[in-house]
Amino acid sequence: MKMLLAGEWVDRDQVIEVKNPYDDSLLNTVPKGTREDALTAIEAAQEGFMEMKKLTAYERFSILSKAAQIMEKRREELSQTLSKEVGKTINEARGEVARALQTLTLSAEEAKKLTGKEVRFDGAPTGGGKVGLYLRVPLGTIVAITPFNFPLNLAMHKIAPALAAGNSVILKPASVTPITGILLGEILMEAGVPSMAFQVVTGPGGEVGDTLVEDERVKMVTFTGSREVGKAIMKKKGYKRATMELGSNSAIIICEDAQLDKAFPRVVLGAYALAGQVCISVQRIFVHESLFDTFVERYVEEAKGLKVGNQLMEDTKVGPMIEEKETKRVKEWIDEAINAGAQLLCGGEIQGALMSPAVVTRCPRNVRLFAKEAFGPVVLINTYSTFDEAIELTNDSVYGLQAGIYTQNLYKAWHAAREVEAGGIIINDVPTFRVDLMPYGGMKESGIGREGPSYTIEEMTEIKLVCFDLN
Ligand code: NAP
Repeated sequence: MKMLLAGEWVDRDQVIEVKNPYDDSLLNTVPKGTREDALTAIEAAQEGFMEMKKLTAYERFSILSKAAQIMEKRREELSQTLSKEVGKTINEARGEVARALQTLTLSAEEAKKLTGKEVRFDGAPTGGGKVGLYLRVPLGTIVAITPFNFPLNLAMHKIAPALAAGNSVILKPASVTPITGILLGEILMEAGVPSMAFQVVTGPGGEVGDTLVEDERVKMVTFTGSREVGKAIMKKKGYKRATMELGSNSAIIICEDAQLDKAFPRVVLGAYALAGQVCISVQRIFVHESLFDTFVERYVEEAKGLKVGNQLMEDTKVGPMIEEKETKRVKEWIDEAINAGAQLLCGGEIQGALMSPAVVTRCPRNVRLFAKEAFGPVVLINTYSTFDEAIELTNDSVYGLQAGIYTQNLYKAWHAAREVEAGGIIINDVPTFRVDLMPYGGMKESGIGREGPSYTIEEMTEIKLVCFDLN
């Protein structure tokens, strides 16, 4: 495949092989872009921004709406591609395409809604006779760096609001799942995005990513990925805006009054969707001691019932992890927990990039499975006795993306909403819940800024004040 650089589809002698994680078969190759390619993209994006600035809000709305129509027609092709390159089940892939369509449509609507506000100058002692307002204007060139797990919808959360606001965008997709980003380039070009205003540069994060992040002509970096890379980008980015959507080890509190029939099977699917490689996967479950045995027994039974295998089969519930080395890493973390006193109740068997859903109980806090982001098909279930203890356990993390609580007690629900350190608290559902219009993002080391088209567009524009002196 070719990458989209400065309005042209180009290839390079050096390529990156993209493989199906299930059987390691070669899906395609993409150019291994270089520092020079990144610099070319930045140069072209300056021109692209000038083109974007000329478009009216209605034209930006129309282009993005047309992109949604084209995507709709290519729905199944996109789903198959996503399933093959990420390893997510075909039904998870169809779900991602449906959500990306939502994100695109919401962003198109935002193009028409983006406005400033009147400023009440005469409310100030020296403001008499002055009237005015502020406008929201685009920033310029925005670099979008995306992770492997949702190559379509998480790219869309950056690209569509950026274009809706009138910016130019350079996408640097993850090197293991770059194909979907290239297809998105085809769709946006066909929809009529000015040719220099959207580019897809494939290539290593260390070289292409670094160059894009450090260049002063880039006005914003919007990054989704690991905490480690996010922190490194914050150090390198210099004088430009950044939003960071990073990792998590999300927790759920199951109170003694929880409706277990409502909680199941959500609490199980929340842990193993996309083989646990979702930033808001359920990783830590804290169950009140009175319910612990019942909860664990039911959990293990349901986890064992999930069909693991080829992601393209309609009845598969848990597909492969992104690479075989990841299953080995997760197994090592489970073993470390067991050596420290935890119990493995089921799962954890490895076959290539596949791992059966693992359930670990009584996991100590000082092991990686508790303290870090597991990002795999494993969950830990621990017990607690007081509500304050449950809150304290939930907050015992460097992360704070989303958390969940199952309770019928209004006081506990509200107390958790106030006390849990996370960007979102989901009451009576799993932390894995997200719809694309809500403000989404992390506290602590889970991120900076919020996504969701109407929130993103604010981050991707700046305020320009206009004041008329009528004295
Ligand atoms: P990653 O290793 O951090 O990579 C993310 C992106 O950063 C890739 O495109 C990567 O390129 C690029 N990159 C690597 N080094 C770079 C550098 N020095 N400068 C600029 N870019 C660089 O993350 P991942 O393994 O793909 O994704 C998993 C992580 O993403 C998890 O931590 C997960 O929680 C997080 N995530 C967060 C959210 C959220 O919304 N909060 C959503 C999804 C995922 P290469 O692929 O070429 O290395």
